[in-house]
Amino acid sequence: MVQMRDNELLPVIVQHARSGEVLMLGYMNAEALVATRESGFVTFYSRSRQRLWRKGETSGNTLRVVEMRQDCDGDALLVLAEPAGPTCHTGRPSCFFRDLAETEVAGPVPPVAIVARLADRIHDRRDAAPTESYTAKLLHGGVDRIGKKIGEEAAEVIIAAKNGNPAEVAYELADLIYHSLVLLENQGMTAEAVWAELARRYASS
Ligand code: AMP
Ligand code: ZN
Ligand code: ZN
Ligand code: ZN
Repeated sequence: MVQMRDNELLPVIVQHARSGEVLMLGYMNAEALVATRESGFVTFYSRSRQRLWRKGETSGNTLRVVEMRQDCDGDALLVLAEPAGPTCHTGRPSCFFRDLAETEVAGPVPPVAIVARLADRIHDRRDAAPTESYTAKLLHGGVDRIGKKIGEEAAEVIIAAKNGNPAEVAYELADLIYHSLVLLENQGMTAEAVWAELARRYASS
């Protein structure tokens, strides 16, 4: 168990539990740590407001704790969390959206976290009108429609590879991955089941 002195503040890195995206950095004192553990929601000590601050207390954009770790010498914490909505108060998923020249950069860190962002977007489209969203149209068409697209995109991946065109391969694999995520949504699944299966095979090979 992390031992904290009364007025000690530990830096806390918050990472998306499913994608590994770095969401934000905050500070916890002993009281904030207890509040986080007891509530299951990330609660910081706000240095500017000098009080406990449950992330999302006004915006509703909370961070539900999935797992907590401490670093090697116990002076920093890592929280793996499931965010409800954007974590940054600017409306972005992560606070780390600018480079050092203050230019907005595209995409999350790590880059593969885009898969989880996309899966969440697909999930959000489940109640949209089929006329307004291609994803909603696919979901509305069920396994038949989605499956047909997966077959087509798989064939396009093969053609692109035969053409030896890296940009085309990337484009068609992106199509295949997107439609595969739509199929997962149709099945009421998340990509976690696929990652777990890969991990199982890796462990036994
Ligand atoms: P919230 O905790 O999301 O209800 O936001 C309350 C206030 O906390 C906002 O108006 C911001 O001033 C601040 N805030 C919220 N999220 C962040 C963040 N990720 N990083 C820094 N400040 C934040
Ligand atoms: Zn350390
Ligand atoms: Zn922010
Ligand atoms: Zn395609």
